[in-house]
Order: sequence, then structure tokens, then C-alpha cells
Amino acid sequence: EFTVREAEAAQGALNCFTLIDGERAMRMARASDERLSSGNGRALEGVPIAMKDLFAVEGVEMTASSNILKGFTPTYESTVSQNLWDAGAVFFAKTSMDEFAMGSSNETAASGAVVNPWRAKGSDERLVPGGSSGGSASALAAGISYGATGTDTGGSIRQPAAFTGLVGAKPTYGRCSRWGVVAFASSLDHPGPLTRTVRDNAILMQHMASPDPKDSTSYTGEVPDFAAAVGKSVKGLKIGIPSEYRVEGMPGEIETLWSQGREWLEAAGCEIVDISLPMTKYALPAYYIIAPAEASSNLARYDGMRYGQRVEGEDLIDTYEKSRAAGFGKEVQRRIMIGTYVLSAGYYDAYYLKALKVRRRILEDFNAAFEKVDAILTPTTPSAAFGIGSKAKASPIEMYLNDIFTVTANIAGIPAMSVPAGLDKSGLPLGLQVITRALDEETMFSVGAALE
Ligand code: GLN
Repeated sequence: EFTVREAEAAQGALNCFTLIDGERAMRMARASDERLSSGNGRALEGVPIAMKDLFAVEGVEMTASSNILKGFTPTYESTVSQNLWDAGAVFFAKTSMDEFAMGSSNETAASGAVVNPWRAKGSDERLVPGGSSGGSASALAAGISYGATGTDTGGSIRQPAAFTGLVGAKPTYGRCSRWGVVAFASSLDHPGPLTRTVRDNAILMQHMASPDPKDSTSYTGEVPDFAAAVGKSVKGLKIGIPSEYRVEGMPGEIETLWSQGREWLEAAGCEIVDISLPMTKYALPAYYIIAPAEASSNLARYDGMRYGQRVEGEDLIDTYEKSRAAGFGKEVQRRIMIGTYVLSAGYYDAYYLKALKVRRRILEDFNAAFEKVDAILTPTTPSAAFGIGSKAKASPIEMYLNDIFTVTANIAGIPAMSVPAGLDKSGLPLGLQVITRALDEETMFSVGAALE
């Protein structure tokens, strides 16, 4: 009840929820209480979790922050949310996001920009919480809820976590099922948790992850005890510092923070190794071909016939066109156009196939690096949170540059997390990123906890 009231009170200032369902929350909380009092308490009994509005919760409207899905209520439950409810967690709200998870600022949501609770020293300019899981990040940073779910296709959990002083992680591709999660770019989409501490993150990921016969790309192996890795000694671990992440124009304070992180790990007994990931500079261009290509295919189903909103036209094609023109925002339309272009017969080889080759080379880069090191340390973002409206006005490329450090781990499908690492000179949070080998979330959590 307390969480629901907090959420309702914060919504006006932060605009971080697409829906608050107090009734359902109370029903689930009462069931939790009953289980607890009969001695059948489960691991997350009574713990409130906010769900990004990309996860289907049966009987609760799901819009992916898009007008085209307005009024769509799923009759099914996502595997990740089912796992959480099975562990006793309580649903209370859906969180806002960039439309269809496309963005880095949470300004493209149909319900308007989400506000970051942080402010720069001496300024009352409202800042973005990052995106696309910006609603989850903003709510948690304001002290609401124990944790929240996010999805990370190119950085959408880690970047908002960095912008709001939270911990955000994505596991290995396939560890958390994509069943019941609205698809953006299927081969890059990773559900994962946002929390305030590394330990909470490990606990939440543990209960989100599972093998799932309903998702053919789900990983079928057992989920390890992630929480046991938190606090484990990192002595003797080799940590790689990739020279290619020292990008031009990166503020000096990010560089400083990165060296500080390196020193913290050295003090904890890690060995620091300089490494090279030479294909890094091609990651962003490859991502912005592969992700829109997959999105254009995934979003073809929103035609005004099967889901959500319809604008009647003169005939079938006209209805499709009118529904899509009214339902999709500008950024989503841009992605669909890029995607169909790079997949079209004349350009497939030049763009899409080329991007897939780059993807393979990026994976090889990481494989070679992980022969030498156990984890890689980088900054999460090239800047701290920026003002609402300040980048959206510039070119879309400017916005895409936010993902420069995060997309590589999606392309390779390997675990990556952002841990709050300090404040910049205006008092805004910055994050450090830890990347590890496929299926080695445990080392990620151990190193993350050593940085905390
Ligand atoms: N900002 C990236 C994009 O717009 C990543 C989004 C995400 O991870 N969902 O595609």
C-alpha cells in the first residue's frame, strides 16, 4: 500500500508510470501475507516490482509506450513476470519507456518525457533518466519499489542505470526468456533487472531467469546462485582495460572515474591488463543496421488489424497506412524505414550482410580478450544525464552516440552491468560497466560488488 501511494504521489513530477494498479497490488500483497503467516513464504514474498511496459502482465494494458498499442490487454503472462510472481513478488505498476524501446532518453514515450529525479548542482533544469527503461530507472531512483524490470537491446538497462545512480544488468542472451516481451530486435533483446544495489540485482536476476520452452532461444542450463557471487573475493582476477573505449571528446571526469575504478579493483587484488578490442568502432554502425532490420520485421504485425488502435481507411491498404501513420511515433517510423531499406534486395549484401560479418568479428574480439582476462572494465556512457529536449532537437545520430560503450555486449550476447561509480562535477551520477564471458554472470556480480 505504501509503495502504491508513493508511486501515485511521484507520478505528477516524474511521469514514470504508464499505469498504477493499486487493487491488483493489494490482492497480491494479501496472498503474500497469507503464505507468510502459514509458513509458506517464498524468496521475494511481498516485494514490490515495477514492470517496464514491454512485459505482458495478464489482464493489464500493455502499450510499449506506443499509441498503436493503446487499449491492448494481453491474455497471457510473460515468463519473466510469471517467474517473479511465482517467487512471491507483487506487481503494482507498469513503467514508461521510449516507444518500442527505441531511444536513449525516454522522450519518445506516447505519454511524454519521463523526468530524472536528479538535478545538477545549482540548476533546476529537468534531466532525462536515460532510456529506453527510463520509467523504471526514474521510479527506483526516487526511492519507489525494491526493483524494476528493464530490457536492454543496445544499452537500455545500463544507460538509464548510469544516469540515475542505480545498478542495471543484462545477463547472457537467452538467460531471461523473451516470451511475452514485446520484440524490438529479437537477436539483441535482453530482459534484466534495475535495482539500488548489486546484491539486489543478483537476487532479482536469479528470479527473472529460467530456461523456457516457449522461447526457442532461451538458454536451457540451470540458473546459478547469482547472489552467492556478491561479496566473493576478486583477488587474482584479471581485468581488461580496452584502449578503444577511450573515445574522442569524452569528458575528462569520465576518464578519471575509469582510472579510479581500475585502482579500486587493483586494491581488491585484481590484476589490470591493457587489452585491445579493435572492432569496437564498427559496433555502433553495425548495431544501427541490425536493430532496425529486425525491428522492421517485428513491427510489421502492428497493422491496425490485430492489436490496439485502428484508423479506418477506404480499403485495407489505406487502413494499414492510416493506422501506422497515426500509431507510430517519428523515431519508430525512422527505424522501420532504415530497416526495410537495409533488408531490401539491392542493399541487403551491402548493409545487412556486412553488419552480420562485423557482428561475428566483434564476437571474435571478445573471445580473444577473454583468453587473457576474466572481466572488462569500461565507462557505461560517454556523458552524464542531459537536459530534456537538449539532444532530441539535434540529429538522431547524436542520440545514437550514447550507446557507444553498451551496444558491443548486446552484439556479442554477453553479460554486462552498470554500477554507480561516483558523481561528476555538477553532482550527477556516472556509471562503470563490467563485461564478462557468456554465462559468467557470477564474475560480473563479484566485480560489480567490488566497485560498489
Ligand atoms: N538506445 C538504443 C536504441 O535506441 C538501445 C535501446 C535499447 O536497448 N532498447 O536502439
